[in-house]
Amino acid sequence: MVKGTIIKVAGPVVVAKGMRGSQMYEVVRVGKEELIGEVIEMEEDKATMQVYEETGGLEPGEDVVGTGTSLSVELGPGIMRMTYDGIQRPLEVIREETGTYIARGVDIPSLDRKKKWKFTPIAKKGDKVIVGDFLGEVPETELVLHKIMVPPTVEGEAEIVEIVGAGEYTVDDKIAVLKTAQDEREIKMAHKWPVRIARPFKEKLDPNIPLITGQRVIDTFFPVAKGGTSAIPGPFGAGKTVIQHQLARWSDTDIVVYVGCGERGNEMCEVLEEFPELKDPKSGKPLMERTVLIANTSNMPVAARDVSVYTGVTLGEYYRDMGYSVSLMADSTSRWAEAMREISGRLEEMPGEEGYPAYLASRLADFYERAGRVITSGSEERHGSLSICGAVSPPGGDFSEPVTQNTLRITKVFWALDAPLADRRHFPAINWLTGYSLYHDSIEDWWAGEISKDWKEMRVRAMALLQKEAELQEIVQLVGADALPEKDRVMLEGARVIREDYLQQSAYDDTDTYCSPKKQYGMLKLMLDFYDKTLDAVERGASAKEVAEIEVKDDIAKLKYVGFSKYTSQEEGAEEKKADEAIENIYKKIDDQLNALLEKREVT
Ligand code: ADP
Repeated sequence: MVKGTIIKVAGPVVVAKGMRGSQMYEVVRVGKEELIGEVIEMEEDKATMQVYEETGGLEPGEDVVGTGTSLSVELGPGIMRMTYDGIQRPLEVIREETGTYIARGVDIPSLDRKKKWKFTPIAKKGDKVIVGDFLGEVPETELVLHKIMVPPTVEGEAEIVEIVGAGEYTVDDKIAVLKTAQDEREIKMAHKWPVRIARPFKEKLDPNIPLITGQRVIDTFFPVAKGGTSAIPGPFGAGKTVIQHQLARWSDTDIVVYVGCGERGNEMCEVLEEFPELKDPKSGKPLMERTVLIANTSNMPVAARDVSVYTGVTLGEYYRDMGYSVSLMADSTSRWAEAMREISGRLEEMPGEEGYPAYLASRLADFYERAGRVITSGSEERHGSLSICGAVSPPGGDFSEPVTQNTLRITKVFWALDAPLADRRHFPAINWLTGYSLYHDSIEDWWAGEISKDWKEMRVRAMALLQKEAELQEIVQLVGADALPEKDRVMLEGARVIREDYLQQSAYDDTDTYCSPKKQYGMLKLMLDFYDKTLDAVERGASAKEVAEIEVKDDIAKLKYVGFSKYTSQEEGAEEKKADEAIENIYKKIDDQLNALLEKREVT
């Protein structure tokens, strides 16, 4: 074990000599209080470390002891429902044991050692297994069936020479013995994995399945694929938190990993209070039953913030390996980048743009690259996915700053939140003119096959209408709407319907909070048909003003509230049926009312 002596303390960065033999990213215990740190630079016998705990009072001359292992998380049953700090220490347990202020150097295991889990074997003695194969399963929470897998540290094929029967075991109990070409080893329900190394899988799959979020502006115009990456930059109050909550609740994922890097302590407290209140729509049970939170407040050292994203992504990969679809949300990655900047400054590295280190871009890329839909390790073909959504909080809402720009180069979806839209209470405040998604092409087949062949044409038309509206608005600003030709005025009305009745979606309305792909299709088709029909009526003699005033518009506006609350009904397809009936009704009304208009015109 390497043992050195501190020669310098600079905030979270500590330098020690006598560290020859230490490894990069090795975990070290620093000073009398044995603070937890990690080696981030080695130069001869001098090691530079970042320390994950407050370094106040730490002095040159104190010891640094290497642990011989790199920073790892513990993977096994008991992760769901937990709130961890950046290095996977359970915050609640720490609070119970040491009070509100996290005492330093505390060693609390990530997983409960005493809890007994109900293990049911899946494999049997004599079976040949490889990495990723299921040995058994454990009901981890009411919503998650945890698979106990052959850990990635087992090389090649192994034979199960021993496996326990169904029963209750702790994470420290032996549940199987595997015989490999090299040795025989005991397997427990938990194993460790270094956070900076991506967990292995067999093959990356094309991102050709959409992650349905039930949010119209996202699914229709800026969709994300399962295993995809997305960024939400937005100024304060633009609705980042609400969107992330909506994604956590409604997107069709099994597991949610939320990594919070708060600016101020209370920002994170809000998340810690709000998340446990959220309900899983399918079961009505708390969403925490399939969620793990990783929380960093500003009173925690910056280095912990840096590592928390790796901790989060590793936990996400672990559940992906079980064949689950996992969503990871990081809020906000700007705070993470600021942590990098601070540490880099302490290391006296050459600063890049705006003081961020030159490796900002590669760190961000490494993080987002761990997303993906994959064929997991294991003998049987199993698919799992990890989707990553990063919130960015550019100072002053200026998207040209380095963190936003570097993130945009990596993520394939950009949900640009817009302060003026939020001010006008247009929610979700995603700017439809600046947002984009690069997944449209890859998920087109899914929409064509599952929903309808004309989906692509419809959404392209709807977007064109919105873009045209923006152009016309500029003219309207100059000369007023009255100066526009009738056809353009009809177009403005058609676009307004899509903007207000389709794009706007209330997170707080029991029905509107989620909109199924089928209902999205029905609504959008109706709105486009409505535009075509009004245009036709105008061409046949009606005025734009008259068609803009027909009553049926109220029904179209109310369509989003037709259906049922997902919390109260489990009936598959019932939502669409109710909406379909309403849509059919509206079509009739449109025809009747437009015909009446035209007839009136002919009479007069
Ligand atoms: P941020 O996290 O970006 O600071 P929030 O997510 O807290 O902003 O949103 C601010 C406020 O905007 C919310 O309290 C809510 O009133 C409103 N809001 C945001 N999104 C929606 C939405 N989809 N539906 C209804 N209201 C919303």
